[in-house]
Amino acid sequence: MERKDKIVIIGGGAAGMIAAWQASSFGAKVILLEKNPDLGIKILISGGGKCNITNGTDINTMLKQFKKNESRFLKFAFHTFTNDQLLTILLNEGVETYIRENGKVFPKSHHAEDVLKALRNLMERNGVEILLQTPAKEIYRNENGTFNVKTNREIITASKVIVATGGSSYQKTGTTGDGFRWIQKLGHTIVPIRPALTPMILHPTPPSLWQGTPIRECKLMAIAQGPNQAQSLPISEWTGDVLITHFGISGPATLEVSRNTYLEFEKGVKIDMCIDFYPEISIEQLDEKIVKEISVNPLRSMLTMTEYLVPQKLAEFILIQLKIDDTTILNQLSKTDRRKLVNKLKCYSLGIVKDIPLDRGEVTAGGAPLDEVDRTTMESKIVSGLYLCGEVLDIAGPVGGYNLQAAFSTGYVAGDHAAKSLVQ
Ligand SMILES: Cc1cc2nc3c(=O)[nH]c(=O)nc-3n(C[C@H](O)[C@H](O)[C@H](O)COP(=O)(O)OP(=O)(O)OC[C@H]3O[C@@H](n4cnc5c(N)ncnc54)[C@H](O)[C@@H]3O)c2cc1C
Repeated sequence: MERKDKIVIIGGGAAGMIAAWQASSFGAKVILLEKNPDLGIKILISGGGKCNITNGTDINTMLKQFKKNESRFLKFAFHTFTNDQLLTILLNEGVETYIRENGKVFPKSHHAEDVLKALRNLMERNGVEILLQTPAKEIYRNENGTFNVKTNREIITASKVIVATGGSSYQKTGTTGDGFRWIQKLGHTIVPIRPALTPMILHPTPPSLWQGTPIRECKLMAIAQGPNQAQSLPISEWTGDVLITHFGISGPATLEVSRNTYLEFEKGVKIDMCIDFYPEISIEQLDEKIVKEISVNPLRSMLTMTEYLVPQKLAEFILIQLKIDDTTILNQLSKTDRRKLVNKLKCYSLGIVKDIPLDRGEVTAGGAPLDEVDRTTMESKIVSGLYLCGEVLDIAGPVGGYNLQAAFSTGYVAGDHAAKSLVQ
């Protein structure tokens, strides 16, 4: 006989799959709907196809990487389903992992597919019914408290519904923000959707010769342009790698400053993206370093020294901008030109922000407001029996495995509570 008390989970990403596994471990009848022909497409593209599954640091340090309200919301979930627990279940499925120096955890095989395979195995072993190419179209709440989930094939009645449809960036992967629309109709408010962890399109675009050049461990600064220089205001900054692309900038430091920069950009503020090539030392110390370099190699050319100070491909163009002859021999370099170079290396403008496109964001900020969801169960405070987990929530962590961990932990709690409340 068909079980009436079903749990329907919409979205077969990290959050939905863990929720399905955990809910089914209580014997609940779990149906997982995924609109794509296969599960976990974002897992497959994460970490450049290697999948930075989580971060290896302790839970409290992990939580500190999120905004204050996000960290408070995630605390229970992160302690309930920890990074260690996640790695243990993966190991039990044969996925060995390792931690990089920066805390990022990857499968030893470097294949995201192995992580996905493990999650699929866990669900299949528990009897989760996985319906691929089955987009949910609408969720209706019935008078008796159950839900009707309309798909492209049928209407499924469920006692509990878990919405794990992700955000609305990388729409080609299936994350088209469907969940936001449904939960709004069911009475939730939605925090405006904004890009996070997103590359930036700059104007003018960087010189073509620079494309593909990484600038290592620099400080990237988003500076709001006032009517004059004295009124310029720093918006956001991050020290890490920046990658020059054909449209502007990408790389970890760019992704990290994108969320806060966007908040000013959408107000129409003109924002200059600048780089400090030497964030560890003061302007005076950099000047001393250059003076020393000149005294050690007085017969070198200005170009040779500048190629040593910045990535090689950038050197000639920087000197042209400074109107310094690149053939100048160092012992003939004027103090004025030396100071010009020092100033430029401490604050070099890469261009003005033209766009921070939502669709290219690794994560979507905004979504279901955290104060409308019970952080100990992931159940909606507006609609009982409805659960929200993963990126559909207004959470966007930094680069480093934090977002997948947030999806896994909130998914686990949602699946756990939905199933336990069925049994009661
Ligand atoms: C390029 C890229 C690289 C990334 N790298 C990392 C990384 O290395 N580490 C990290 O921690 N995070 C990374 N992230 C972020 C991380 O992938 C997401 O935060 C995480 O996958 C969110 O999980 P989720 O389960 O909430 O949503 P998703 O993984 O997006 O899953 C949602 C699923 O719901 C399905 N869906 C949507 N609508 C419907 C519908 N109507 N019916 C049925 N199914 C539907 C979608 O097809 C999708 O499969 C990366 C993101 C991108 C885009």
